[in-house]
Amino acid sequence: MASFQALKQQRARRGAGAASAGQARAAPAPAATPAPADAAPQPACASEEAPVAAQELVAEPDAPEAASTQAFESAATMAQLPACGSRAESTSYRLRGELEVRRTEASGRSIWWAPTSVKSATAGTTLLAVSPHVAVLSSAHLDSRCALCFKTADEAIEALPHTASGSSSPRLQRCSGCRTLHYCSAACQRADWPLHRQECAALVAYAASAASSAKGQTQRVASEPGTSVRALARLLWAGQKKGADWMEPVHNMQSNRGKMDSQQLEPLGTIAARLAFFMGVTLRPDAEPDEERSSAARARLAALGLASSAQLLDFVCQYATNSFTAASSDLSPLGVAVAPEAALLNHSCVPNACVVFPFGPGAREGSLRVVAIREIKPGEEILTSYVDLSDCYAKRRQTLAERYLFACSCAMCKHARRRAPPKAGRAAWLDPREAQWCSRACGGWIASPLTGDETAAPVSASCSKCGAPRAQPDTSAQARQSGEQALERAERFLDTNEPEAAWQTLQRSIRVLSAVMPPSGYPLLALMRCAQTALIELAGSSDASEEKLDEATRLGLAICAGMQAAGGAVFCAAHPARAVAMATLGKLLIADAQGDGSQAQHSCLASPPRLPQAGMERALAGRAMLVQAHEELLGAFGRDTQGGAVGATVRSALQSLDAELSLLAAR
Ligand SMILES: [Zn+2]
Ligand SMILES: [Zn+2]
Ligand SMILES: [Zn+2]
Ligand SMILES: [Zn+2]
Repeated sequence: MASFQALKQQRARRGAGAASAGQARAAPAPAATPAPADAAPQPACASEEAPVAAQELVAEPDAPEAASTQAFESAATMAQLPACGSRAESTSYRLRGELEVRRTEASGRSIWWAPTSVKSATAGTTLLAVSPHVAVLSSAHLDSRCALCFKTADEAIEALPHTASGSSSPRLQRCSGCRTLHYCSAACQRADWPLHRQECAALVAYAASAASSAKGQTQRVASEPGTSVRALARLLWAGQKKGADWMEPVHNMQSNRGKMDSQQLEPLGTIAARLAFFMGVTLRPDAEPDEERSSAARARLAALGLASSAQLLDFVCQYATNSFTAASSDLSPLGVAVAPEAALLNHSCVPNACVVFPFGPGAREGSLRVVAIREIKPGEEILTSYVDLSDCYAKRRQTLAERYLFACSCAMCKHARRRAPPKAGRAAWLDPREAQWCSRACGGWIASPLTGDETAAPVSASCSKCGAPRAQPDTSAQARQSGEQALERAERFLDTNEPEAAWQTLQRSIRVLSAVMPPSGYPLLALMRCAQTALIELAGSSDASEEKLDEATRLGLAICAGMQAAGGAVFCAAHPARAVAMATLGKLLIADAQGDGSQAQHSCLASPPRLPQAGMERALAGRAMLVQAHEELLGAFGRDTQGGAVGATVRSALQSLDAELSLLAAR
């Protein structure tokens, strides 16, 4: 297992919808069960090895297999730790406003809508607004965004009053201490300094150590410890300053460590070891005498509010289960955030709420919002999705098992497992993510044979329209698999700012899959969204930008069709991912209003949708799309924020379009 799940998770959710995380559903506080025998680590003081092996200092996604738990105490010691989440074992308590935390048999500890009146929460109601305990940029964005407000240099200038914009330089300032973090302004740097002070010194020491480890090695060695370690360290340093009351909800988050096997624990152990080294808990072996190392490390841990190295590992496990993807206002993943209150939310594949950052995750009071996207009746549990809703059942099941260690039993998953024959008189509901085109090309759908769950009933599928059976042999499984691989590669290219490579990687898979399945199919929808992101970046910089815009617009039409499939049963109206996709399509139609659309035969889509006639027809189609998008954005990011930052851009796009149109009419 090479990389930390949280980072996989981030990549898997590029622009994919709301950030989400939380404790496992239906999971009582983990019992203090002993770790499996093969996970038993050696006490640090008894080991000949350095607490942090040199190979652990490589970049996080490439972290090699390392006997990383060696810095930790015996399994017996770990097992004696009290279980986490001891607060409110049996009672309910009011969280904030009209929310209640309850503990139930079926759901464990979670958040419920409990208004004092009988009123339901409607889509667009902000249920919870909190400031995350910490929010940090992921390593990929450290050079291009402000470490405090998460803005790029251009975004920071746009946010300034117009009079000041000319005087600012369009560049971020690098911290002269660590030369790692950047800031958009002196104000952001000053505001971040109380926390960055310790981090800055640690980054300097870490980079020096990494450089000396790198000597004679061919592998690339990262000069900073990675997103997770920076987030965890900030959390502990902030806890030192703010005190035990502030940290209590963090230490009460669910850990799931008791449910993990050694393979799942290993990458977390690597992170814990790197965290201990980064924070100066464990030093390089030559830095202090052997006999003092263990007790000195223990004292330094205690100063951070942790009783033992086993509790440090617990802390990392809590983070792994409970951290959120800190997404931009338009849902691109930028980093991670820890917000213990929101982490109490349980998961459903048919969520009634979403976790969003309407104005981005940067320093701003109440930046993390939980917004209702469906009606929630009094006494209903508030449920968000921890996974990308465009994932098929098998993929959702895999993600939930690997990162959150539970099996979902929502209505959607139950249906997928049962494959129940339709009740008499009612049309069978076919999950649009699992659908394939009828092989007779009648336009009907057939259920895909892929379930990824041995316990699921076998599929006996025929076309929803003409009744034809599925073609044999069915090659869609291979196409799906290579599509998944292409998606992973393309997302890495986007992370490293190589949109052309991402676009090249995606085209073939999109062509193959769009011939086999409707745009709602898995993983076609995710591939198209990734390709659209790449094309929009390319259209801004490359030549042939009109061609790129045309193709991005065609993809936009297919993406919106895919998200609205099956009457919005998967992405309901007001789901943030759907609202943002519609806003993007509206803007593309307007930006591309003069395009000639002549390249349709070169489209990556097997049967590309027709673009509205260039000129007025396309501009008006864009306008209609923006109006609809605005309504959904209010639902997705909250009426109280007027649809967040994306809502504001849509209103201003509509304004300038209407000004142009009235000019034309006046002529
Ligand atoms: Zn800033
Ligand atoms: Zn610094
Ligand atoms: Zn489910
Ligand atoms: Zn058919």
